[in-house]
Amino acid sequence: MDSLTYIQHLKKEYPVKQIGDEPDLAGRLIAHLGNRLPEFIKHKINNGTINVAEIQKSDPQAFVKEVSENDYAVVIHSGLSEFVYRVVRAISTRVVDHNLGVETGETFDDTVRIVAEIFWWFQETGQSFGPEYNIHEYQKKIASIITTEVESFFLAHELGHIIFPKEDKLSFEKVIERLTFGDYKGFIRSDDHPHFGEFVSDATAASVLLGIYTDCIDSNPVLNNLRYVGIEFGLMIFSGLEALEFPTSDSHPTFKERINSVREIVRKWTNDDEQWQNLIQLASYFELLFERIIETIANPSTSQIEYYEDSAAKVLEKIEDSLDRHSISLEEKPKQQDFVNVKLDSGETVKMPMPNFDFNDDSITPKYSQFYMEVSDILSVGYSHVFFEKLAKEFRKNIKLSHEQLVELEFKLGLIEKNQRIKILKKNEDLFYQLKEFQKTKLLHGYFSRQANPSGEYFFMKVYG
Ligand SMILES: [Zn+2]
Repeated sequence: MDSLTYIQHLKKEYPVKQIGDEPDLAGRLIAHLGNRLPEFIKHKINNGTINVAEIQKSDPQAFVKEVSENDYAVVIHSGLSEFVYRVVRAISTRVVDHNLGVETGETFDDTVRIVAEIFWWFQETGQSFGPEYNIHEYQKKIASIITTEVESFFLAHELGHIIFPKEDKLSFEKVIERLTFGDYKGFIRSDDHPHFGEFVSDATAASVLLGIYTDCIDSNPVLNNLRYVGIEFGLMIFSGLEALEFPTSDSHPTFKERINSVREIVRKWTNDDEQWQNLIQLASYFELLFERIIETIANPSTSQIEYYEDSAAKVLEKIEDSLDRHSISLEEKPKQQDFVNVKLDSGETVKMPMPNFDFNDDSITPKYSQFYMEVSDILSVGYSHVFFEKLAKEFRKNIKLSHEQLVELEFKLGLIEKNQRIKILKKNEDLFYQLKEFQKTKLLHGYFSRQANPSGEYFFMKVYG
């Protein structure tokens, strides 16, 4: 099999949404890197001995495979991009620019909580999901630029494995042969290090991103700053996962080690300390921020814990209240309908009953659509972990009747005129209670079965195991 066939197979199995001939993420990243890619790599891409592709898989990964001799497939999962963007976007809300009127829309504690929830969803479902929050257009732009650079870094890392394959002893001849990359002496760890190949790939990727060996270093310092953030920040996010004891890649050294190694190397590429400090300015800011966030997730202060517990309780209360208002109630329909005076064309005035626009008023069914709208707003704030925890504990716990009995009960009561029905239920408090709980579960079922995001699947897993 050749790499193209291999890619075609993968693409068929994990198709990404693509518009017409638009390139996928991998194709866009290759174009984005453009002249920063070494000739050697561009040549192989052009003659089809490197094929790159994005596939729709949720675990944030990229990999390279030598499909047949000297013929490579480089694959990036869409989940990598989704996860990185979600984290970077949340953190970018801390970037302020008073001159541009860009302020943070959330408190630091909330940013911490939002990032924690993104990690929580990732841990629970392996997918990228999280709450909504305030973000400025400018911050979105920053997030999107950084994400592209992070993705480029991970792609370039895989290409790095092609430039310097593991079995390569990195002889000088080989380096010459591969043209574009100069002398690595002085910054590569000793080649008996178990992760030697990974550090080399990171170094290669860093040089590609910064355009070092292809002589494409940009004259715009801000752009270089952002490219450097791309190099570090992807590694940082994954080192954050490590710090929180998430299982991460096994074939690679720890991300913290990789950050340090990349730093050491890039520092040697700069002319002096000032140039170095300028280059890493933004990355250092993000690192500091990110470390504080990870630190807070791991060890929140007492006041932070109180704040989170309070807010979570408020969210739960709102959900309870919404379930209550949109399921069956004992409120009777007003007996005396209101009348209005209607003037006819003939001039006479007649008294007519006020038209009833609430068609559902008499119905026994829960008010689904109103509930969906309301609960979606409430849940978008977050605290999903608390909500699902409670749900798993209490869901259907108090329902004694079987599903069939409840369906039948609801149906039969639905045939009775509303006020009559309420009279019956008032006399049978337990029956009312059972029916109410049943309707609440139906509301939640209905809502979560409509969710395309991971929360839908998670709900059913949590409730039914
Ligand atoms: Zn690697």
